[in-house]
Amino acid sequence: MVRHRTLVAHPTVLLFDIDGTLVWTGGAGRRAMEATFLAMTGAREAVSFTFAGMTDRAIVRAGLENAGRPVDEASIDRLIGTYLELLTETVRSATDYGVYPGIQQALDAVRGLASFAVGLGTGNVEPGARIKLGRVELADEFAFGGFGSDHEDRARLLAIGATRGAERLGVLREACRVIVIGDTPRDVQAALAIGAECVAVGTGGDSPESLVACGATRAFADLAAPGALEALLG
Ligand SMILES: [Mg+2]
Repeated sequence: MVRHRTLVAHPTVLLFDIDGTLVWTGGAGRRAMEATFLAMTGAREAVSFTFAGMTDRAIVRAGLENAGRPVDEASIDRLIGTYLELLTETVRSATDYGVYPGIQQALDAVRGLASFAVGLGTGNVEPGARIKLGRVELADEFAFGGFGSDHEDRARLLAIGATRGAERLGVLREACRVIVIGDTPRDVQAALAIGAECVAVGTGGDSPESLVACGATRAFADLAAPGALEALLG
């Protein structure tokens, strides 16, 4: 008997950003990072810049520079370790925390579709991503991703996530439609840098119009907006 392998007409890899795209954390990430710098360098203000679209390791690197501390990979590793310990507590205790409109519906729509690989494309290191998503029971929705622990550069970590998604679909990355779902100009730029589409959402503070002006393929107020789900499904 010939077993027909289902032909994947248009294999699609979705890479979701976390903060400002999937969830809001009520500042839990910032509080953990500030507490980390206070504990490790005495300089909470070293990380008083915006984290939007930055990877965790890039945030720590900039913070160490601002604090006038040696910047080396071992120091970054040490601070990330402390950050993860503190993040567990700030996420647990955050009072303003949730999933943005349309996210659950989008995940429901693609779950089980043979042509879709649903992953993360996030600057969070992987354990931090799991902590943030675990609070809203989304951690198990994403079997793979490109993470801040894979690369400090956002475009590079997205490329890693795209390759992992293609592997799950059993095709080459070049054969896939790759869609980055993000909320910042940095998400858009990194998506374009790897030849991916970017479906942008205005939930993180940047307007859909400004994200289109940055080069987003499509942009919506949130994924519950008319046309947003269709933009993902193709
Ligand atoms: Mg974001």
